Amino acid sequence: LKVMISGAPASGKGTQCEMIVEKYGLVHISTGDILRAEVSSGTEIGKKAKGYMDNGMLVPDEIVTDMVITRLSLPDVKERGWFLDGYPRTFSQAQSLERANIKPDIYIVLDVPDEILIDRCVGRRMDPVTGKNYHLKNFPPETDEISARLITRADDTQEKAVSRLETYKKNAEAILSTYLNLLKKQVQADAAKSKKLSTVEGHPVEVGG
Ligand code: AMP
Repeated sequence: LKVMISGAPASGKGTQCEMIVEKYGLVHISTGDILRAEVSSGTEIGKKAKGYMDNGMLVPDEIVTDMVITRLSLPDVKERGWFLDGYPRTFSQAQSLERANIKPDIYIVLDVPDEILIDRCVGRRMDPVTGKNYHLKNFPPETDEISARLITRADDTQEKAVSRLETYKKNAEAILSTYLNLLKKQVQADAAKSKKLSTVEGHPVEVGG
């Protein structure tokens, strides 16, 4: 199974991913998580990406695209299936996947009102020890000890959250239409195939499931 998810920052992509990945045994590929790990390990990719990420801007395609395509091509990932989270984020990224013949079976879109998204970003805190996300109002930490060590993502300020949301909206429609077109082509191909099967020399035959 190959799944992609699209949603604005803090729309709940990570939470949905966790549940689906666990249920279907998929490999979770989150470009945001990979890039954050590169930044904290101080790699070349991390050094290049940090400035963009801290400012809530997209990291250039030439850094992210190779990273994603390499991972999706690993034999283990192909075998288990994948859940791609955070990519494609632009039309040109969607085209890069198309060129590499990488298509999802399912494309999930999370649609959440703007004011909820901004509130979630601004109140979001992360536990650096467990990696778990909290929200100051909606999902406060269980103990004072956890509360004392929580950190805020550099891109979760009000201003940067608004800018990330605008970037998401600017790109989302073109990406969605890419996958709707793909779906349309698939439906047409399936219809043509079943028409061919159901007519042998003009005689209708039964098509099994
Ligand atoms: P996320 O955790 O998905 O919100 O991603 C955090 C940050 O990583 C984004 O604000 C971008 O700076 C960067 N990033 C993640 N995915 C991509 C992508 N597909 N293209 C460019 N930048 C990305």
